[in-house]
Amino acid sequence: MSVEAGPPERDVEPPAPGESGPRSRDLGHGVGVLVALFGPVVLSVSLALVSGRGAPVAWLWIVVPLLAAVLAAIGANARRTPIVSGIGGLGLAGFLAFAWSFRAAPIPLREQDVIIPMARVPRGVAAYRVETGVIHRTASFGYRGGGLDTPRDFAMNAVLITHPAGDVLVDTGLGGNVRAHLEEMPLPFRAVTNLAPSTSVAAQLEAIGYDRARLFCVVLTHAHWDHVSGAEDLVGAPLWVTASERAFLDEGWITAIARRVSLDRYRTYELDGPPALHAPRSHDVHGDGAIVIVPVPGHTPGSVAVLVTESEGRRFLLLGDLVWQREGITEREERPWLTRLGDSDPAEVRDQIAAVAALSRAHPEIVLVPAHDPRGYAEMRPLEALARP
Ligand SMILES: [Zn+2]
Repeated sequence: MSVEAGPPERDVEPPAPGESGPRSRDLGHGVGVLVALFGPVVLSVSLALVSGRGAPVAWLWIVVPLLAAVLAAIGANARRTPIVSGIGGLGLAGFLAFAWSFRAAPIPLREQDVIIPMARVPRGVAAYRVETGVIHRTASFGYRGGGLDTPRDFAMNAVLITHPAGDVLVDTGLGGNVRAHLEEMPLPFRAVTNLAPSTSVAAQLEAIGYDRARLFCVVLTHAHWDHVSGAEDLVGAPLWVTASERAFLDEGWITAIARRVSLDRYRTYELDGPPALHAPRSHDVHGDGAIVIVPVPGHTPGSVAVLVTESEGRRFLLLGDLVWQREGITEREERPWLTRLGDSDPAEVRDQIAAVAALSRAHPEIVLVPAHDPRGYAEMRPLEALARP
């Protein structure tokens, strides 16, 4: 049995008084290089990941790398390597700017003319929520000023509006093939999406014995994957989009899921009606004011909101993804920078938020339903209520 000799001893310069030893300086330098190169990327990704988790762990994820970055910057400075400490400092500044983008920054209040459309709603008009799953996130993911450690489930729903002239489904929720749909999305997107799907709209309609012949059309608030995922299962149902959203359908991975169904199923409609709510144009689906579509561009070029007036007089404003949570309107907070990257035109989103916030202040009786906020849907009938005689 032989014992290998260790490395030959080297002459080591003793540290000068008041200076740290070479080993700790090497360590500092090493960490400095690491943070300078990977720090900003790791920080961004970890924060994004964390926004799907919630809980105080979130703070740990941010405080620990921040401390590491500070220590590395100090270490690099001690080593007198201006390039490394410079890059490390930039990384640190980048991180702080990133963290800053989550702070509250309310969009200023403004005056806004508001027109509530005339409605002669027949009997039998009612809105039903169809829940198809949730994505676990935190409030900070949804709007600026939202708690980083406040868990918030993002609802992935559709809304069925019954109407004697033909029912209307707004969005399609997560479909039966949602796992395959998610696989088609880019890796970074999948990494930050913690999905818990339930049952597709089509399966739920079948389960309650719904007569599909009653379905007049599907109005898409926009063509992002989570709103069109269920379209495949709703064989044959026409998918209504505005002309600008139809053009957007041809653009890259962001609308890849929308293109899984035959493009022949998409029908464009004109926003040829009079001013409604805050918008200069509108489209009244059945001509009686029960279901009125208005443009709310910005998240995508052809995004719309749908005002539903039930026979009983209750009003819901289905906002699509103009905002993801109610605070987006009530506190006038846009999405934080990271998630705003998904907006086609963030300035347009801000403008629409200001307008809808003014509308909501003037008409607090209208129930705000951002597409991913469970609180809006909670005020709506569940689909099961439709099954009862
Ligand atoms: Zn969405």
